[in-house]
Amino acid sequence: MAKVPEYHTNTDPADPVYHVYDDCPAGKRVFADGSNVEGTGGFVLCALCKTKPTTGHF
Ligand SMILES: [Zn+2]
Repeated sequence: MAKVPEYHTNTDPADPVYHVYDDCPAGKRVFADGSNVEGTGGFVLCALCKTKPTTGHF
């Protein structure tokens, strides 16, 4: 549950967002299939990552 460098995926057009937490439920799928790419990709910040409290859990 750590903040990580921005990452996104290019393989899921239905999810045009980037993530900043490695335990984000949506972001974890990106890591799980190995399609994570560093950077924002020009996307907007994931709503889950955006609203995540600085402490606590998803
Ligand atoms: Zn996210």
